[in-house]
Amino acid sequence: MAVNLVPYAEVDLSQIDAVVVGSGFAGSVVARELAERGGKRVLIIEKRSHVGGNMYDCYDEAGILVHAYGPHIFHTNNQRAYEYLARFTNWRTYQHEVLANLNGTYIPVPFNKNSMEIVFGPEKALQLMNKLIDTFGDERKVTITELRAQNDPDLQEVAEFVYQNVFLYYTQKQWGLTPDEVDPSVTGRVPVFISRDNRYFQDTYQGMPGEGYTQLFLNMLDHPLITVSLETEAESVMGLEFESGAEDARLCAITLKDEVFEGPIIYTGPLDELFLARFGRLPYRSLDFVYETYDEEMKFPVGTVNFTVSEDYTRITEFKHLTGQVAPNTTIMKEYSRAYENPREQIPYYAIINPENNAHYQRYRSLTENLPNFYPLGRLAEYRYYNMDAIVVLALQLADQLLSE
Ligand code: FAD
Ligand code: UDP
Repeated sequence: MAVNLVPYAEVDLSQIDAVVVGSGFAGSVVARELAERGGKRVLIIEKRSHVGGNMYDCYDEAGILVHAYGPHIFHTNNQRAYEYLARFTNWRTYQHEVLANLNGTYIPVPFNKNSMEIVFGPEKALQLMNKLIDTFGDERKVTITELRAQNDPDLQEVAEFVYQNVFLYYTQKQWGLTPDEVDPSVTGRVPVFISRDNRYFQDTYQGMPGEGYTQLFLNMLDHPLITVSLETEAESVMGLEFESGAEDARLCAITLKDEVFEGPIIYTGPLDELFLARFGRLPYRSLDFVYETYDEEMKFPVGTVNFTVSEDYTRITEFKHLTGQVAPNTTIMKEYSRAYENPREQIPYYAIINPENNAHYQRYRSLTENLPNFYPLGRLAEYRYYNMDAIVVLALQLADQLLSE
């Protein structure tokens, strides 16, 4: 068996019960569930030439398995999500570690007890650690915002060091903003950790798909009731019908091939794209990736090195750490964060979460609220900073809801 790829022009919509836009985790999990549990015939419309959304991976010219849209490490506390995906992949056990390169000195990130010893020396580190433990408790995570709010001079010293050397320049590169200007939930993803645990994530389940993400998606979408049309942009095949001609009139129907489509439409692309940016584009950050291959077995000691005080790129990922691939050569990837200015050439990677942008998003969202068969889902359609596991959970929940209706 293989994924059933059919050009959109050849799809007979009278034979389709549900339409899914996008084949990342949001779209693919819903599609699989509707097909398998609900017996629904599902059409996936995907604008790229491949499935898998931002999780897509492939072998480069040097034969190394690389991620095409940023490094992806699966981690979750949600057993259902982990076990669900295990139906489509074996998991390679992998615990992600990140080091910050401070002008040539490596320290673990999240900043932890081991980082403190490297930075402050064992004696002073012990004194500062005891202060942290007395204040917050041992094995606790403290956001940089929380730490900077402390009055104690020792804690302020730690906070200032971490702010200046871990967060400030990296955040300026990543967001074009200082850490004070980004939503606290963003820097809160990487708290100071009062621990010896050097892992980037502490979730119960962590791993990498044994044969890669693309193979996981090919397995998930290999179902007789799922059809995939690649290189098909939703906005070029969907007709939108509105309650009136007013700019903020709500959507009342979606047509496909000139017929109103009555079944569920699960939309996982950006909402501003669907409405042809009628209220202006939603702000995102984009990324450029630069790959380099070296004739040596490994270049770096861990999977990702963050450049928190130097360089124009934010981080370097060396894929072989993640994938466990054995080869005499290695490929690394540098990430450069960019303003998102040209949707034709760039990819909207990160929603820029703040009250103004959330309100902007809500304007688009409200256009969809009177259309009962339209379901926006995922990191783009919901304009949220979701990890993969959250998307898998939401997709399973939406499928539960649709199958119980
Ligand atoms: P996507 O994967 O973006 O899929 C959306 C799909 O819809 C795409 O295939 C796209 O081509 C298609 N599409 C969009 N618009 C249209 C349209 N108009 N018509 C047709 N098709 C369309 N999460 C983790 O858990 N761990 C990580 O290590 C991790 N690393 C990340 C690194 C980076 C650089 C980024 C940006 C994100 C990372 N994430 C990570 C988050 C992860 O990428 C998302 O949670 C996940 O991609 C969300 O899945 P999705 O299906 O919502 O969106
Ligand atoms: N961050 C930072 N320095 C680091 C790591 C993270 O300043 O060494 C900040 C930065 O603002 C970043 C955010 O924390 O955007 C979230 O980091 P994470 O690694 O979760 O980002 P992602 O992997 O989603 O790009």
